[in-house]
Amino acid sequence: MSDPSQERPAGPPDRDASAAGPVDGTRATGEALPPADTRPPVVVVGLGPVGAAAALLLARAGVPVVAIDRDLEVYPHPRAVALDDDALRVLQAAGVRDGEGLDVLPGGTVRIRGRGGRPLVELGPPPTATGHPGLAFFRQPQLERVLRERLEAEPLVDLRLGTTVLGVDAPGDADHDAVLRVTGRDGTASVLRAPWVLACDGGRSAIRTALGVRLRGTSSPSRWLVVDTDGVAGTGETEAAGPGVRAPAGPAAFAPADFEFGADPHGPWVHGPLPGGAHRWEFLLPPTADRGDPDDPAAVHALLARRCAGPVPEVRRAAVYAFHARVADRWRTGRVLLLGDAAHLSPPFAGQGLCAGLRDAGNVAWKVAAAWSGTADESLLDTYARERLPHVVATTALAVGLGLVVELRRARAASLRDGVLRRVAATRGVRRWIASGGWRPPSTLGAGLLARSRPHRGRAGEALPQAGAAAPMRDDRLPRAWVVLGAEDAGPLARHGATAVPWSALPDAEDLRRWLAPADVALVRPDRVVYGTASAAGCGALLAEAARTSAFTG
Ligand SMILES: Cc1cc2nc3c(=O)[nH]c(=O)nc-3n(C[C@H](O)[C@H](O)[C@H](O)COP(=O)(O)OP(=O)(O)OC[C@H]3O[C@@H](n4cnc5c(N)ncnc54)[C@H](O)[C@@H]3O)c2cc1C
Repeated sequence: MSDPSQERPAGPPDRDASAAGPVDGTRATGEALPPADTRPPVVVVGLGPVGAAAALLLARAGVPVVAIDRDLEVYPHPRAVALDDDALRVLQAAGVRDGEGLDVLPGGTVRIRGRGGRPLVELGPPPTATGHPGLAFFRQPQLERVLRERLEAEPLVDLRLGTTVLGVDAPGDADHDAVLRVTGRDGTASVLRAPWVLACDGGRSAIRTALGVRLRGTSSPSRWLVVDTDGVAGTGETEAAGPGVRAPAGPAAFAPADFEFGADPHGPWVHGPLPGGAHRWEFLLPPTADRGDPDDPAAVHALLARRCAGPVPEVRRAAVYAFHARVADRWRTGRVLLLGDAAHLSPPFAGQGLCAGLRDAGNVAWKVAAAWSGTADESLLDTYARERLPHVVATTALAVGLGLVVELRRARAASLRDGVLRRVAATRGVRRWIASGGWRPPSTLGAGLLARSRPHRGRAGEALPQAGAAAPMRDDRLPRAWVVLGAEDAGPLARHGATAVPWSALPDAEDLRRWLAPADVALVRPDRVVYGTASAAGCGALLAEAARTSAFTG
Protein backbone atom coordinates (compact mmCIF):
# COMPACT_ATOMS: atom_id res chain seq x y z
CA MET A 1 0.00 0.00 0.00
CA SER A 2 1.29 3.44 -0.74
CA ASP A 3 0.08 6.67 0.80
CA PRO A 4 2.53 9.41 -0.07
CA SER A 5 0.16 11.96 1.46
CA GLN A 6 1.43 10.82 4.86
CA GLU A 7 4.85 12.30 4.16
CA ARG A 8 5.14 16.03 3.86
CA PRO A 9 8.04 18.34 3.12
CA ALA A 10 9.50 19.59 6.40
CA GLY A 11 7.94 22.72 7.82
CA PRO A 12 5.97 23.94 10.80
CA PRO A 13 3.44 21.20 11.50
CA ASP A 14 0.55 23.62 11.84
CA ARG A 15 0.98 24.74 8.24
CA ASP A 16 1.02 21.31 6.68
CA ALA A 17 -2.06 19.72 5.29
CA SER A 18 -2.81 16.37 6.87
CA ALA A 19 -4.42 13.45 5.18
CA ALA A 20 -6.44 13.05 8.36
CA GLY A 21 -8.33 16.31 8.69
CA PRO A 22 -8.04 20.07 9.12
CA VAL A 23 -4.88 21.83 7.99
CA ASP A 24 -3.41 21.97 11.49
CA GLY A 25 -3.95 18.27 12.02
CA THR A 26 -6.64 18.89 14.61
CA ARG A 27 -9.61 16.60 14.94
CA ALA A 28 -12.61 18.52 16.28
CA THR A 29 -13.77 16.99 19.55
CA GLY A 30 -16.91 14.94 19.04
CA GLU A 31 -16.35 14.89 15.29
CA ALA A 32 -17.51 11.61 13.73
CA LEU A 33 -14.64 9.30 12.84
CA PRO A 34 -13.86 9.05 9.14
CA PRO A 35 -14.71 5.73 7.50
CA ALA A 36 -12.07 3.05 8.04
CA ASP A 37 -10.63 3.18 4.54
CA THR A 38 -9.87 6.91 4.78
CA ARG A 39 -8.38 6.84 8.27
CA PRO A 40 -4.65 7.55 8.15
CA PRO A 41 -2.32 4.66 8.81
CA VAL A 42 -0.65 3.86 12.09
CA VAL A 43 3.12 4.38 11.84
CA VAL A 44 5.53 1.72 13.08
CA VAL A 45 9.11 2.97 13.41
CA GLY A 46 11.84 0.33 13.41
CA LEU A 47 11.42 -3.03 11.75
CA GLY A 48 13.56 -5.20 13.95
CA PRO A 49 11.66 -8.28 15.10
CA VAL A 50 9.41 -6.31 17.45
CA GLY A 51 8.35 -3.58 15.02
CA ALA A 52 7.93 -6.06 12.18
CA ALA A 53 5.74 -8.33 14.32
CA ALA A 54 3.70 -5.35 15.57
CA ALA A 55 3.17 -4.09 12.01
CA LEU A 56 1.98 -7.53 10.90
CA LEU A 57 -0.38 -7.85 13.87
CA LEU A 58 -1.89 -4.45 13.08
CA ALA A 59 -2.29 -5.28 9.39
CA ARG A 60 -3.87 -8.62 10.25
CA ALA A 61 -6.33 -6.70 12.43
CA GLY A 62 -7.26 -4.63 9.36
CA VAL A 63 -5.24 -1.52 10.21
CA PRO A 64 -3.18 0.13 7.45
CA VAL A 65 0.41 0.65 8.54
CA VAL A 66 3.29 2.81 7.37
CA ALA A 67 6.28 0.69 8.40
CA ILE A 68 9.63 2.46 8.34
CA ASP A 69 13.22 1.55 9.04
CA ARG A 70 16.41 3.49 8.46
CA ASP A 71 18.21 0.37 7.20
CA LEU A 72 17.56 -1.37 3.91
CA GLU A 73 18.55 -4.80 5.18
CA VAL A 74 17.90 -6.69 8.41
CA TYR A 75 20.58 -6.55 11.12
CA PRO A 76 23.06 -9.35 10.33
CA HIS A 77 24.90 -9.70 13.65
CA PRO A 78 24.34 -12.39 16.26
CA ARG A 79 21.80 -11.49 18.89
CA ALA A 80 18.86 -13.50 20.26
CA VAL A 81 18.94 -17.30 20.02
CA ALA A 82 16.20 -18.33 22.47
CA LEU A 83 12.48 -17.74 22.38
CA ASP A 84 9.82 -18.85 24.82
CA ASP A 85 6.30 -20.09 24.21
CA ASP A 86 4.64 -16.69 24.64
CA ALA A 87 6.95 -15.19 22.02
CA LEU A 88 6.29 -18.06 19.61
CA ARG A 89 2.55 -17.58 20.15
CA VAL A 90 2.82 -13.89 19.23
CA LEU A 91 4.74 -14.88 16.10
CA GLN A 92 1.99 -17.41 15.35
CA ALA A 93 -0.54 -14.57 15.54
CA ALA A 94 1.65 -12.54 13.17
CA GLY A 95 1.59 -15.46 10.71
CA VAL A 96 5.14 -16.68 11.31
CA ARG A 97 5.84 -20.17 12.53
CA ASP A 98 8.29 -23.02 12.64
CA GLY A 99 8.86 -24.73 9.32
CA GLU A 100 7.45 -21.87 7.24
CA GLY A 101 10.71 -20.11 6.49
CA LEU A 102 11.70 -20.11 10.16
CA ASP A 103 13.70 -22.95 11.70
CA VAL A 104 13.02 -23.54 15.38
CA LEU A 105 14.79 -26.11 17.53
CA PRO A 106 12.86 -27.05 20.69
CA GLY A 107 15.16 -26.56 23.67
CA GLY A 108 16.28 -29.18 26.18
CA THR A 109 17.86 -28.62 29.57
CA VAL A 110 19.42 -25.37 30.70
CA ARG A 111 22.46 -26.28 32.76
CA ILE A 112 24.71 -24.16 34.94
CA ARG A 113 28.16 -25.66 35.38
CA GLY A 114 30.38 -24.53 38.20
CA ARG A 115 34.09 -24.87 38.87
CA GLY A 116 35.64 -27.86 37.14
CA GLY A 117 32.72 -28.01 34.71
CA ARG A 118 30.53 -29.86 37.20
CA PRO A 119 26.76 -29.30 36.80
CA LEU A 120 25.25 -27.17 39.57
CA VAL A 121 21.68 -26.65 38.46
CA GLU A 122 19.64 -28.19 35.67
CA LEU A 123 16.45 -26.54 34.51
CA GLY A 124 14.39 -28.86 32.32
CA PRO A 125 12.13 -27.41 29.62
CA PRO A 126 9.26 -25.76 31.53
CA PRO A 127 5.80 -27.22 30.98
CA THR A 128 3.56 -24.92 28.94
CA ALA A 129 -0.10 -24.69 27.98
CA THR A 130 0.35 -22.43 25.00
CA GLY A 131 0.93 -24.98 22.26
CA HIS A 132 4.59 -23.97 21.97
CA PRO A 133 7.79 -25.13 23.69
CA GLY A 134 8.86 -23.13 26.73
CA LEU A 135 12.35 -22.86 25.25
CA ALA A 136 13.24 -22.91 21.56
CA PHE A 137 16.33 -21.93 19.62
CA PHE A 138 16.29 -19.89 16.43
CA ARG A 139 18.46 -17.52 14.40
CA GLN A 140 17.45 -13.89 14.76
CA PRO A 141 18.62 -12.77 11.29
CA GLN A 142 16.52 -15.56 9.74
CA LEU A 143 13.47 -14.54 11.79
CA GLU A 144 13.94 -10.92 10.76
CA ARG A 145 14.19 -11.90 7.09
CA VAL A 146 10.97 -13.94 7.30
CA LEU A 147 9.17 -11.06 9.00
CA ARG A 148 10.46 -8.67 6.35
CA GLU A 149 9.15 -10.94 3.56
CA ARG A 150 5.74 -11.07 5.25
CA LEU A 151 5.69 -7.27 5.48
CA GLU A 152 6.54 -6.98 1.79
CA ALA A 153 3.65 -9.30 0.94
CA GLU A 154 1.10 -7.61 3.23
CA PRO A 155 -1.22 -5.31 1.23
CA LEU A 156 -2.04 -3.11 4.25
CA VAL A 157 1.63 -2.37 4.92
CA ASP A 158 3.37 0.55 3.20
CA LEU A 159 7.02 -0.41 3.66
CA ARG A 160 9.45 2.52 3.65
CA LEU A 161 13.00 1.31 4.07
CA GLY A 162 15.85 3.80 4.22
CA THR A 163 13.61 6.24 6.13
CA THR A 164 15.02 7.60 9.38
CA VAL A 165 13.11 9.30 12.17
CA LEU A 166 15.03 12.38 13.27
CA GLY A 167 12.70 13.64 15.95
CA VAL A 168 9.19 14.08 17.27
CA ASP A 169 7.59 17.47 16.58
CA ALA A 170 4.44 16.54 18.50
CA PRO A 171 3.51 13.35 20.37
CA GLY A 172 -0.19 13.81 19.55
CA ASP A 173 -3.21 13.60 21.80
CA ALA A 174 -6.93 12.94 21.57
CA ASP A 175 -7.35 15.88 19.17
CA HIS A 176 -4.06 15.94 17.29
CA ASP A 177 -2.04 13.43 15.35
CA ALA A 178 1.53 12.70 16.34
CA VAL A 179 4.07 14.38 14.06
CA LEU A 180 7.45 12.82 13.29
CA ARG A 181 10.35 14.41 11.46
CA VAL A 182 11.93 11.97 9.00
CA THR A 183 14.42 11.79 6.16
CA GLY A 184 13.90 9.54 3.19
CA ARG A 185 16.38 7.46 1.25
CA ASP A 186 17.34 10.45 -0.91
CA GLY A 187 17.98 12.60 2.16
CA THR A 188 14.84 14.69 1.74
CA ALA A 189 13.41 15.84 5.06
CA SER A 190 9.67 15.60 5.62
CA VAL A 191 7.10 15.20 8.37
CA LEU A 192 4.95 12.18 8.94
CA ARG A 193 1.63 12.43 10.77
CA ALA A 194 -0.01 9.50 12.43
CA PRO A 195 -2.95 8.82 14.72
CA TRP A 196 -0.71 6.36 16.58
CA VAL A 197 3.03 5.70 16.47
CA LEU A 198 4.64 2.49 17.65
CA ALA A 199 8.27 3.31 18.42
CA CYS A 200 10.19 0.06 17.98
CA ASP A 201 13.47 1.76 17.12
CA GLY A 202 15.66 -0.25 19.45
CA GLY A 203 17.84 0.38 22.48
CA ARG A 204 19.12 3.74 21.23
CA SER A 205 15.61 4.88 20.31
CA ALA A 206 15.68 8.37 18.78
CA ILE A 207 11.98 8.66 19.55
CA ARG A 208 12.47 7.87 23.23
CA THR A 209 15.20 10.51 23.41
CA ALA A 210 13.09 13.09 21.57
CA LEU A 211 10.24 12.52 24.02
CA GLY A 212 12.56 13.06 26.98
CA VAL A 213 11.84 9.58 28.32
CA ARG A 214 14.61 8.21 30.52
CA LEU A 215 15.86 4.66 30.86
CA ARG A 216 16.19 3.72 34.53
CA GLY A 217 18.40 0.88 35.72
CA THR A 218 21.98 -0.23 35.44
CA SER A 219 24.56 -1.02 32.78
CA SER A 220 27.11 -3.73 33.41
CA PRO A 221 30.81 -2.88 33.02
CA SER A 222 31.35 -6.43 31.65
CA ARG A 223 31.89 -7.09 27.97
CA TRP A 224 30.90 -10.37 26.32
CA LEU A 225 32.22 -11.67 23.03
CA VAL A 226 29.34 -13.32 21.17
CA VAL A 227 30.23 -15.80 18.44
CA ASP A 228 28.13 -17.91 16.09
CA THR A 229 29.93 -20.88 14.56
CA ASP A 230 29.25 -23.81 12.30
CA GLY A 231 28.88 -27.27 13.79
CA VAL A 232 31.95 -28.63 15.50
CA ALA A 233 33.43 -31.04 12.96
CA GLY A 234 35.72 -33.85 14.01
CA THR A 235 34.55 -34.02 17.62
CA GLY A 236 32.16 -36.86 17.07
CA GLU A 237 29.27 -34.41 16.94
CA THR A 238 26.23 -36.17 15.56
CA GLU A 239 22.50 -35.66 15.72
CA ALA A 240 22.61 -37.51 19.03
CA ALA A 241 25.59 -35.89 20.71
CA GLY A 242 26.69 -32.28 20.71
CA PRO A 243 30.22 -30.94 20.61
CA GLY A 244 32.63 -31.84 23.35
CA VAL A 245 33.36 -29.14 25.88
CA ARG A 246 36.79 -28.93 27.30
CA ALA A 247 36.06 -28.17 30.90
CA PRO A 248 39.02 -28.14 33.31
CA ALA A 249 37.97 -31.54 34.68
CA GLY A 250 37.94 -33.08 31.20
CA PRO A 251 35.61 -33.07 28.21
CA ALA A 252 31.89 -33.40 28.81
CA ALA A 253 29.32 -33.88 26.08
CA PHE A 254 26.46 -31.51 25.37
CA ALA A 255 23.12 -32.95 24.49
CA PRO A 256 22.17 -31.36 21.17
CA ALA A 257 19.38 -29.14 22.48
CA ASP A 258 20.88 -28.17 25.85
CA PHE A 259 21.94 -24.66 26.76
CA GLU A 260 24.96 -24.36 29.03
CA PHE A 261 26.27 -21.63 31.29
CA GLY A 262 29.89 -22.17 32.26
CA ALA A 263 30.25 -20.37 35.60
CA ASP A 264 34.00 -20.90 35.42
CA PRO A 265 35.92 -18.27 37.41
CA HIS A 266 38.83 -18.65 34.95
CA GLY A 267 36.61 -17.49 32.08
CA PRO A 268 32.81 -17.60 32.18
CA TRP A 269 31.19 -18.82 28.97
CA VAL A 270 27.84 -19.72 27.45
CA HIS A 271 27.06 -22.28 24.78
CA GLY A 272 23.85 -23.17 22.99
CA PRO A 273 22.71 -24.96 19.86
CA LEU A 274 21.17 -23.21 16.89
CA PRO A 275 18.94 -24.80 14.25
CA GLY A 276 20.80 -26.34 11.33
CA GLY A 277 23.70 -27.60 13.46
CA ALA A 278 25.18 -24.16 14.18
CA HIS A 279 26.29 -23.00 17.63
CA ARG A 280 26.20 -19.89 19.81
CA TRP A 281 29.15 -19.18 22.10
CA GLU A 282 29.55 -16.29 24.50
CA PHE A 283 32.73 -15.46 26.42
CA LEU A 284 33.10 -12.97 29.24
CA LEU A 285 36.07 -10.82 28.28
CA PRO A 286 38.71 -9.96 30.86
CA PRO A 287 38.68 -6.44 32.34
CA THR A 288 39.64 -3.72 29.85
CA ALA A 289 43.37 -3.65 30.57
CA ASP A 290 43.98 -7.29 29.54
CA ARG A 291 41.35 -7.47 26.86
CA GLY A 292 43.40 -6.80 23.71
CA ASP A 293 41.32 -6.72 20.54
CA PRO A 294 38.50 -9.17 21.20
CA ASP A 295 37.31 -9.06 17.58
CA ASP A 296 40.70 -10.22 16.38
CA PRO A 297 40.12 -13.63 14.68
CA ALA A 298 43.12 -15.09 16.52
CA ALA A 299 41.62 -14.07 19.88
CA VAL A 300 38.24 -15.55 18.92
CA HIS A 301 39.97 -18.74 17.78
CA ALA A 302 41.87 -19.00 21.06
CA LEU A 303 38.69 -18.67 23.13
CA LEU A 304 36.90 -21.31 21.05
CA ALA A 305 39.92 -23.62 21.20
CA ARG A 306 39.75 -23.56 25.00
CA ARG A 307 36.21 -24.91 24.87
CA CYS A 308 36.14 -27.22 21.83
CA ALA A 309 37.47 -30.71 22.32
CA GLY A 310 38.24 -31.02 18.58
CA PRO A 311 39.08 -28.64 15.74
CA VAL A 312 37.76 -25.12 16.16
CA PRO A 313 34.64 -24.58 14.05
CA GLU A 314 34.26 -21.94 11.36
CA VAL A 315 33.21 -18.57 12.80
CA ARG A 316 30.15 -17.05 11.10
CA ARG A 317 29.74 -13.87 13.12
CA ALA A 318 31.37 -12.33 16.16
CA ALA A 319 30.52 -9.16 18.05
CA VAL A 320 31.26 -7.63 21.46
CA TYR A 321 28.33 -6.49 23.60
CA ALA A 322 27.77 -4.65 26.86
CA PHE A 323 24.55 -5.57 28.62
CA HIS A 324 22.03 -3.29 30.27
CA ALA A 325 19.15 -3.78 32.67
CA ARG A 326 17.05 -0.69 32.04
CA VAL A 327 13.39 0.21 31.72
CA ALA A 328 11.87 3.38 30.26
CA ASP A 329 10.14 5.52 32.86
CA ARG A 330 7.22 6.17 30.50
CA TRP A 331 5.94 3.81 27.79
CA ARG A 332 3.26 6.08 26.41
CA THR A 333 3.51 9.76 25.54
CA GLY A 334 0.35 11.01 23.86
CA ARG A 335 -0.10 8.88 20.78
CA VAL A 336 3.43 7.45 20.83
CA LEU A 337 4.06 4.06 22.42
CA LEU A 338 7.45 2.51 23.10
CA LEU A 339 7.93 -1.21 22.43
CA GLY A 340 10.77 -3.72 22.61
CA ASP A 341 14.30 -2.54 23.28
CA ALA A 342 13.09 1.05 22.96
CA ALA A 343 11.12 0.46 26.19
CA HIS A 344 13.35 -1.97 28.08
CA LEU A 345 16.75 -3.61 27.89
CA SER A 346 17.63 -6.89 29.55
CA PRO A 347 20.89 -8.82 29.75
CA PRO A 348 20.48 -11.91 27.56
CA PHE A 349 21.05 -14.55 30.26
CA ALA A 350 17.35 -15.32 30.71
CA GLY A 351 16.73 -15.16 26.94
CA GLN A 352 14.00 -12.60 27.47
CA GLY A 353 14.84 -9.31 25.68
CA LEU A 354 13.15 -10.17 22.43
CA CYS A 355 10.50 -12.32 24.11
CA ALA A 356 9.52 -9.27 26.14
CA GLY A 357 9.38 -7.15 22.99
CA LEU A 358 7.17 -9.67 21.23
CA ARG A 359 4.88 -9.75 24.29
CA ASP A 360 4.70 -5.95 24.01
CA ALA A 361 3.64 -6.27 20.39
CA GLY A 362 1.00 -8.87 21.23
CA ASN A 363 -0.33 -6.74 24.08
CA VAL A 364 -0.45 -3.40 22.32
CA ALA A 365 -1.34 -4.15 18.69
CA TRP A 366 -5.00 -5.06 19.28
CA LYS A 367 -5.41 -2.09 21.62
CA VAL A 368 -4.07 0.34 19.02
CA ALA A 369 -6.29 -1.33 16.40
CA ALA A 370 -9.33 -0.85 18.66
CA ALA A 371 -8.49 2.80 19.38
CA TRP A 372 -7.70 3.45 15.70
CA SER A 373 -11.04 1.98 14.59
CA GLY A 374 -12.97 3.96 17.21
CA THR A 375 -14.17 0.90 19.17
CA ALA A 376 -12.02 1.68 22.19
CA ASP A 377 -11.44 4.79 24.22
CA GLU A 378 -7.80 5.78 23.96
CA SER A 379 -7.35 5.31 27.71
CA LEU A 380 -7.21 1.60 26.81
CA LEU A 381 -3.61 2.28 25.81
CA ASP A 382 -2.78 3.18 29.42
CA THR A 383 -3.26 -0.49 30.28
CA TYR A 384 -0.30 -1.41 28.04
CA ALA A 385 2.48 -0.46 30.45
CA ARG A 386 0.39 -1.42 33.47
CA GLU A 387 0.04 -4.95 32.12
CA ARG A 388 3.54 -5.38 30.73
CA LEU A 389 5.81 -3.64 33.23
CA PRO A 390 5.65 -6.15 36.14
CA HIS A 391 6.70 -9.03 33.90
CA VAL A 392 9.49 -7.03 32.27
CA VAL A 393 10.84 -6.12 35.72
CA ALA A 394 10.66 -9.76 36.86
CA THR A 395 12.39 -11.23 33.79
CA THR A 396 15.07 -8.54 33.87
CA ALA A 397 15.74 -9.31 37.54
CA LEU A 398 16.05 -13.02 36.66
CA ALA A 399 18.56 -12.18 33.91
CA VAL A 400 20.59 -9.95 36.22
CA GLY A 401 20.61 -12.69 38.89
CA LEU A 402 21.79 -15.32 36.42
CA GLY A 403 24.51 -12.95 35.22
CA LEU A 404 25.75 -12.47 38.79
CA VAL A 405 25.96 -16.24 39.28
CA VAL A 406 27.77 -16.87 36.00
CA GLU A 407 30.15 -13.91 36.00
CA LEU A 408 31.71 -14.59 39.40
CA ARG A 409 35.49 -14.39 38.94
CA ARG A 410 36.88 -14.89 42.43
CA ALA A 411 37.75 -18.56 42.95
CA ARG A 412 36.84 -18.67 46.63
CA ALA A 413 33.50 -16.97 46.08
CA ALA A 414 32.83 -19.35 43.19
CA SER A 415 33.51 -22.36 45.45
CA LEU A 416 31.09 -21.01 48.01
CA ARG A 417 28.48 -20.37 45.31
CA ASP A 418 28.88 -23.89 43.93
CA GLY A 419 28.41 -25.49 47.33
CA VAL A 420 25.32 -23.47 48.17
CA LEU A 421 23.70 -23.89 44.75
CA ARG A 422 24.34 -27.62 44.62
CA ARG A 423 22.84 -28.13 48.06
CA VAL A 424 19.81 -25.92 47.41
CA ALA A 425 19.14 -27.50 44.01
CA ALA A 426 19.13 -30.96 45.59
CA THR A 427 16.31 -30.25 48.05
CA ARG A 428 12.99 -31.82 47.19
CA GLY A 429 11.04 -28.54 47.25
CA VAL A 430 13.46 -26.84 44.88
CA ARG A 431 13.53 -29.86 42.57
CA ARG A 432 9.73 -29.71 42.36
CA TRP A 433 9.80 -25.95 41.87
CA ILE A 434 12.31 -26.34 39.03
CA ALA A 435 10.36 -29.17 37.38
CA SER A 436 7.17 -27.10 37.40
CA GLY A 437 8.95 -24.17 35.76
CA GLY A 438 8.49 -22.09 38.92
CA TRP A 439 11.74 -20.22 38.19
CA ARG A 440 10.10 -18.58 35.16
CA PRO A 441 8.28 -15.38 36.09
CA PRO A 442 4.66 -16.11 35.11
CA SER A 443 3.31 -13.92 32.33
CA THR A 444 -0.22 -14.01 33.78
CA LEU A 445 -1.53 -10.46 34.04
CA GLY A 446 -2.27 -9.23 37.54
CA ALA A 447 -3.70 -5.83 36.63
CA GLY A 448 -5.01 -4.03 33.60
CA LEU A 449 -8.00 -4.65 31.39
CA LEU A 450 -9.39 -7.58 33.37
CA ALA A 451 -12.71 -8.33 35.03
CA ARG A 452 -12.81 -6.82 38.49
CA SER A 453 -16.00 -8.15 40.02
CA ARG A 454 -15.42 -11.24 42.13
CA PRO A 455 -17.64 -13.72 40.23
CA HIS A 456 -15.80 -12.92 36.99
CA ARG A 457 -12.21 -13.05 38.17
CA GLY A 458 -11.58 -16.80 37.80
CA ARG A 459 -8.74 -17.28 35.23
CA ALA A 460 -8.75 -13.53 34.49
CA GLY A 461 -5.31 -12.50 33.24
CA GLU A 462 -4.28 -16.02 32.21
CA ALA A 463 -3.54 -16.98 28.62
CA LEU A 464 -6.14 -19.21 27.00
CA PRO A 465 -4.58 -22.69 26.79
CA GLN A 466 -3.70 -23.87 23.35
CA ALA A 467 -1.80 -27.03 24.23
CA GLY A 468 -3.17 -30.37 23.22
CA ALA A 469 -5.42 -28.84 20.59
CA ALA A 470 -5.40 -30.63 17.25
CA ALA A 471 -4.02 -28.89 14.15
CA PRO A 472 -4.88 -26.30 12.99
CA MET A 473 -3.96 -24.77 16.31
CA ARG A 474 -6.74 -23.32 18.42
CA ASP A 475 -5.68 -19.69 18.06
CA ASP A 476 -5.94 -20.08 14.30
CA ARG A 477 -9.46 -21.48 14.54
CA LEU A 478 -10.76 -18.64 16.69
CA PRO A 479 -11.51 -15.22 15.23
CA ARG A 480 -8.76 -12.64 15.76
CA ALA A 481 -11.10 -10.57 17.92
CA TRP A 482 -12.82 -10.67 21.30
CA VAL A 483 -14.31 -14.13 21.73
CA VAL A 484 -17.09 -15.19 24.09
CA LEU A 485 -16.17 -18.81 24.52
CA GLY A 486 -18.97 -21.18 25.46
CA ALA A 487 -21.79 -18.73 24.71
CA GLU A 488 -24.38 -18.51 21.97
CA ASP A 489 -24.15 -14.76 21.49
CA ALA A 490 -21.83 -11.90 22.30
CA GLY A 491 -24.57 -9.62 23.67
CA PRO A 492 -23.62 -5.93 23.84
CA LEU A 493 -20.11 -6.67 22.54
CA ALA A 494 -21.36 -8.07 19.23
CA ARG A 495 -21.65 -4.64 17.62
CA HIS A 496 -17.98 -4.06 18.46
CA GLY A 497 -16.90 -7.17 16.58
CA ALA A 498 -16.87 -9.70 19.44
CA THR A 499 -17.82 -13.22 18.38
CA ALA A 500 -19.58 -15.91 20.37
CA VAL A 501 -18.05 -19.36 19.93
CA PRO A 502 -20.26 -22.04 21.49
CA TRP A 503 -18.61 -25.22 22.73
CA SER A 504 -20.27 -27.12 19.86
CA ALA A 505 -18.07 -25.13 17.45
CA LEU A 506 -14.91 -26.29 19.25
CA PRO A 507 -15.25 -30.08 19.28
CA ASP A 508 -11.88 -30.82 20.92
CA ALA A 509 -12.26 -28.36 23.77
CA GLU A 510 -12.77 -30.78 26.68
CA ASP A 511 -9.41 -29.70 28.14
CA LEU A 512 -10.55 -26.11 27.96
CA ARG A 513 -13.88 -26.79 29.66
CA ARG A 514 -12.11 -28.61 32.48
CA TRP A 515 -9.65 -25.74 32.80
CA LEU A 516 -12.49 -23.22 33.04
CA ALA A 517 -14.62 -25.18 35.52
CA PRO A 518 -16.56 -24.27 37.57
CA ALA A 519 -17.12 -21.42 35.08
CA ASP A 520 -18.92 -22.18 31.81
CA VAL A 521 -18.01 -19.14 29.77
CA ALA A 522 -14.79 -17.19 29.15
CA LEU A 523 -14.49 -13.75 27.62
CA VAL A 524 -11.17 -13.78 25.79
CA ARG A 525 -9.34 -10.69 24.51
CA PRO A 526 -7.89 -10.59 20.98
CA ASP A 527 -4.43 -11.33 22.47
CA ARG A 528 -5.88 -14.59 23.91
CA VAL A 529 -5.73 -13.32 27.48
CA VAL A 530 -8.84 -14.20 29.49
CA TYR A 531 -10.68 -11.01 30.48
CA GLY A 532 -12.99 -12.88 32.84
CA THR A 533 -15.15 -15.95 33.28
CA ALA A 534 -18.71 -16.64 34.37
CA SER A 535 -21.33 -19.30 34.83
CA ALA A 536 -23.78 -19.69 31.97
CA ALA A 537 -26.30 -17.67 33.99
CA GLY A 538 -23.72 -14.97 34.76
CA CYS A 539 -22.57 -14.49 31.17
CA GLY A 540 -24.75 -11.41 30.62
CA ALA A 541 -23.25 -9.68 33.66
CA LEU A 542 -19.71 -10.52 32.50
CA LEU A 543 -20.37 -9.02 29.06
CA ALA A 544 -22.03 -5.97 30.61
CA GLU A 545 -18.99 -5.41 32.83
CA ALA A 546 -16.66 -5.60 29.83
CA ALA A 547 -18.90 -3.29 27.79
CA ARG A 548 -18.30 -0.53 30.34
CA THR A 549 -14.50 -0.68 29.98
CA SER A 550 -12.31 1.49 27.78
CA ALA A 551 -12.09 -1.38 25.26
CA PHE A 552 -15.69 -0.77 24.17
CA THR A 553 -16.42 2.86 24.93
CA GLY A 554 -14.71 4.63 22.03
C1 LIG B 1 24.13 -11.07 22.41
C2 LIG B 1 22.66 -10.96 22.57
C3 LIG B 1 21.93 -12.10 22.82
C4 LIG B 1 20.56 -12.01 22.98
N1 LIG B 1 19.85 -13.15 23.24
C5 LIG B 1 18.51 -13.08 23.38
C6 LIG B 1 17.75 -14.28 23.53
O1 LIG B 1 18.28 -15.38 23.51
N2 LIG B 1 16.39 -14.16 23.65
C7 LIG B 1 15.77 -12.95 23.63
O2 LIG B 1 14.54 -12.91 23.77
N3 LIG B 1 16.47 -11.80 23.45
C8 LIG B 1 17.82 -11.84 23.32
N4 LIG B 1 18.52 -10.70 23.06
C9 LIG B 1 17.81 -9.41 22.94
C10 LIG B 1 17.19 -9.21 21.55
O3 LIG B 1 18.13 -9.42 20.54
C11 LIG B 1 16.62 -7.80 21.47
O4 LIG B 1 15.78 -7.61 22.59
C12 LIG B 1 15.82 -7.60 20.20
O5 LIG B 1 16.63 -7.67 19.07
C13 LIG B 1 15.13 -6.23 20.22
O6 LIG B 1 14.34 -6.11 19.09
P1 LIG B 1 13.72 -4.69 18.69
O7 LIG B 1 12.92 -4.95 17.46
O8 LIG B 1 13.06 -4.08 19.87
O9 LIG B 1 14.96 -3.76 18.39
P2 LIG B 1 16.06 -3.89 17.23
O10 LIG B 1 16.20 -5.30 16.81
O11 LIG B 1 17.25 -3.18 17.70
O12 LIG B 1 15.41 -3.11 16.00
C14 LIG B 1 15.33 -1.71 15.97
C15 LIG B 1 15.10 -1.29 14.53
O13 LIG B 1 14.87 0.11 14.50
C16 LIG B 1 15.57 0.68 13.41
N5 LIG B 1 15.84 2.08 13.77
C17 LIG B 1 16.61 2.52 14.78
N6 LIG B 1 16.59 3.87 14.83
C18 LIG B 1 15.78 4.27 13.83
C19 LIG B 1 15.35 5.55 13.38
N7 LIG B 1 15.75 6.68 13.99
N8 LIG B 1 14.52 5.61 12.32
C20 LIG B 1 14.09 4.48 11.70
N9 LIG B 1 14.47 3.25 12.09
C21 LIG B 1 15.29 3.15 13.15
C22 LIG B 1 16.83 -0.16 13.28
O14 LIG B 1 17.37 -0.08 11.98
C23 LIG B 1 16.29 -1.55 13.62
O15 LIG B 1 15.86 -2.24 12.47
C24 LIG B 1 19.90 -10.75 22.89
C25 LIG B 1 20.65 -9.60 22.61
C26 LIG B 1 22.01 -9.71 22.45
C27 LIG B 1 22.78 -8.47 22.13
